Amino acid sequence: MSKRNVAIIAHVDHGKTTLVDKLLQASGTFRANEEIQERVMDSNDIERERGITILAKPTSIEYKGSHINILDTPGHADFGGEVERIMNMVDGVLLVVDAYEGTMPQTRFVLKKAIEAGVKPIVVVNKIDKESARPKEVIDEVMDLFIELGADIDDLDFPIVYVSALNGTSSYSPDLSTQEPDMTKVLDLIVENIPEASKDVEGGLQFQPALLDYNDFVGRIGVGLVKRGKVKTGEMVSCIRVDGSVKQFRIAKIFGYVGLKRVEVSSAEAGDIVAIAGLPDISVGETICTVGQEEALPLLRIDEPTLQMTFGVNTSPFCGREGKIVTARKIQERLLKETERDVSLKVTPVPDNSEAFVVSGRGELHLSILIENMRREGFELQVSKPAIIKKEIDGVLCEPFEEVQVDVPDEYVGSVIEALGNREGSMQNMANENGQTRLHYLVPTRGLIGFMTEFMTMTKGYGIINHTFDSYKPLAGNNVGTRKTGVLVSIENGKSTAYALGQLEDRGVMFIEPGTEVYEGMIVGENNHDNDLAVNVVKGKNLTNTRSSSKDHTVVLKRPKIMSLEVCLDYINEDELVEVTPVGYRMRKRILNTELRKKQDARK
Ligand code: GDP
Repeated sequence: MSKRNVAIIAHVDHGKTTLVDKLLQASGTFRANEEIQERVMDSNDIERERGITILAKPTSIEYKGSHINILDTPGHADFGGEVERIMNMVDGVLLVVDAYEGTMPQTRFVLKKAIEAGVKPIVVVNKIDKESARPKEVIDEVMDLFIELGADIDDLDFPIVYVSALNGTSSYSPDLSTQEPDMTKVLDLIVENIPEASKDVEGGLQFQPALLDYNDFVGRIGVGLVKRGKVKTGEMVSCIRVDGSVKQFRIAKIFGYVGLKRVEVSSAEAGDIVAIAGLPDISVGETICTVGQEEALPLLRIDEPTLQMTFGVNTSPFCGREGKIVTARKIQERLLKETERDVSLKVTPVPDNSEAFVVSGRGELHLSILIENMRREGFELQVSKPAIIKKEIDGVLCEPFEEVQVDVPDEYVGSVIEALGNREGSMQNMANENGQTRLHYLVPTRGLIGFMTEFMTMTKGYGIINHTFDSYKPLAGNNVGTRKTGVLVSIENGKSTAYALGQLEDRGVMFIEPGTEVYEGMIVGENNHDNDLAVNVVKGKNLTNTRSSSKDHTVVLKRPKIMSLEVCLDYINEDELVEVTPVGYRMRKRILNTELRKKQDARK
């Protein structure tokens, strides 16, 4: 049976997952009794919510005598290393583009990686059913993007298929009336255009883990492509480590992929994408070879962390109320387990503090997904403001920079340009169309921390901002933003009252509603001024509440501002923390006691 290995790439929400579901159905890979969940590929809840795929989960399809492995790719720059390594396993990509939105920052990011890897592209214009679809212009945009990214002339001749993944229809023509009710056209293009995977089964084994996975029964698993030769369970093999040393081990298990399932197989050969268990510390980029024929494959790129924050034991007075898992030992165990399958994550102890760990990752998204996962597993944590990781390159101190794309109605352009200028951003490009302006900027990552909230307010919610890691560059000026406003901090423990909150309305914006349990040192709102203000939110005019129906007790309050995890991380300053529990998030001052904090501030 011939083999095809293909990656699927797209901007978030352009329909990758829906497309894969329909391809599985089209190939009959679902058995009649198998339940088709919606959006089968993103099995992790958080990924599903945020539309980002992070873990290695090849899906395979049998079609017209071919075995097609489809690898999902994370469409976010926090995961650039993974995308590159996935490109190294495949011979082609399906580039999915929304027929209305056209090319977007992530389309550009993933296509760049595909072009650099020299794999064969197929363009899938999705959502052709949308009334607003403009497939011809979108194809022009895709063409421009290929040219801009330096694609070969041959690649500009990419095959195109127009589909509605939602409705399960496809056609080779952009004309909506020509859509036919199945997805086989996409599968046909794969079989006809994507080169067959390596068939070199005769030489010595070469298998290179490109992604890691972890399973409680077998431990760490390396997922990768068998580039050459054959491998079977029980066999002794050599592992050429990244430092060049060689370690022999026995293959304990091999897993292949059928449909959406990982299944144990007894052997694999060139062209197969499989997972191998047996070496407890197997890692990305090593080469597994036949003993006596050790030939290393080129190393793979692993992204170095750019951002770090501390994950600590929850020290708020509410510790243990909302979560089951609260100890430093459990937190450490969980973090270390995560590093078993995520090569871009680093965990180190905080000096002189056994209750907290420095967790370094690829960006705010990378770290916030981990926090969110832990929270849902029952953990309580307190986390600090994310800080960038500086690096010395050729004797020059450098910091991470992001490429930022902003789309805003013209009336807000002035304020956005000013704000990004204040954050050491440099404009790369500006284009204007139909009252909308698109800006391209290069901004130090440091300058973007805390910016999202400001941007949303500044553009009254009409602005769209996307940012992706660009590179390390020499340190920008010191003029990068922190929050401009102070906060309202509770001076009491107890339950907040409508009366007290009502009295504070003129002071700023509240983050809590009446009846919220608060503690001393908890942040309950944003001050209108740049200093912090200690406030009493629990006082009541009438503590017994017996006359609550009378007129002077009916307070109509403005709605509190809802703060998501990302917003909280973006919002806090260095002297503040986010308390994370299975129930939600609170922001707090590091020093809870009002007097102690005042003394500390006075010293500053
Ligand atoms: P992903 O983030 O790329 O995996 O995108 P999804 O497959 O999750 O799709 C994002 C959204 O677009 C979902 O609400 C889908 O129902 C919708 N969608 C996907 N394909 C189509 C399509 O062909 N037509 C329309 N109208 N909507 C679609």
